[in-house]
Amino acid sequence: MNLFDTHAHFTGGEEDISPLLARAREAGVARILAVGGSEELNKGADDAFRLSKSCGSSYPEVFKAVGLDRDQIGLNPSSLDFTGADAIGEIGLDYHYSAETREAQMELMARQLELSEKLDLPVVIHTREADEDTLSLLREIPTRGIIHSFTGEPGFCKKLLDLGYYISLSGIVTFRAADNVRETARVIPLDRLLVETDTPYLAPVPKRGQPNEPAFVAHTARFLADFLGVDFEVFISQTTSNALNVLRLSS
Ligand SMILES: [Zn+2]
Repeated sequence: MNLFDTHAHFTGGEEDISPLLARAREAGVARILAVGGSEELNKGADDAFRLSKSCGSSYPEVFKAVGLDRDQIGLNPSSLDFTGADAIGEIGLDYHYSAETREAQMELMARQLELSEKLDLPVVIHTREADEDTLSLLREIPTRGIIHSFTGEPGFCKKLLDLGYYISLSGIVTFRAADNVRETARVIPLDRLLVETDTPYLAPVPKRGQPNEPAFVAHTARFLADFLGVDFEVFISQTTSNALNVLRLSS
C-alpha cells in the first residue's frame, strides 16, 4: 500500500517517534506530513523528518510543515526556520476554544499566508467555528494548501474548494455521530480529497480512545473508500497523488 498521512504531530524524541514510523510503514503508510505549530511541535516534526532521512525504506518518507498555530499569538513567524520544510503549518483560527483572541489569531494567520506566498510553500490550515474570518483571509491573501481535519458544513467546504484548497478528513469521519462530516465528504471531488490522522488525537474507529498514530490512517481510508463507493486501491492512489500535487512533491 501507498498511503499518505497528511497530518501528524510528533513529540518526545527518537525513542518515541521511531516505533510510530516503523508501525506506519508496516501498515502501508509510505509518506507522512509531520506538522508543527508550536516550538515543541516544530521540533517534533523536524525530529521525524530527520529520522526518516536516516532510516531509508524501513520508515515512511516524512515531509515537514513548520508554523505557528492559533495558540502562539505574539510570536513572529518570520523567525522560524523553514529549511527543509515543504509546507507552513499548522496555522489558522479556532473560536471554539479561544474566541477572545480573535484579532490576534487573524493577524498571525495573515502573516503566515503572506509568508506562504513569499516562500512559495503551501499552508496547512486549522479552522473551527471561524468560517467567515477564514474565508475573508483566504480571499484577501490568496495562496494554496490544505484545510485539515475538516468538520465544517458542505457550503463552507464548497467555498474553500472554489478557492483551490484541498480538504483533508481525519478519523472523525468514522465516528458514529459525525453524520455532518460524512455529508460534507460527499461534496469533495475525489481529486481534492486527502486523509490524515492528526496524530496523537482523534483515533478512528476501531481504535477510538487510543492515542492515534499514522498507521491508523488505513482505517480512515478504508472507511471513506467504502462510504464513497470507491475501490480501496483507487482511493489510496488518488488521495496520495492529491497530497503529492498540493505539496508539489514528485511521486
Ligand atoms: Zn493538527
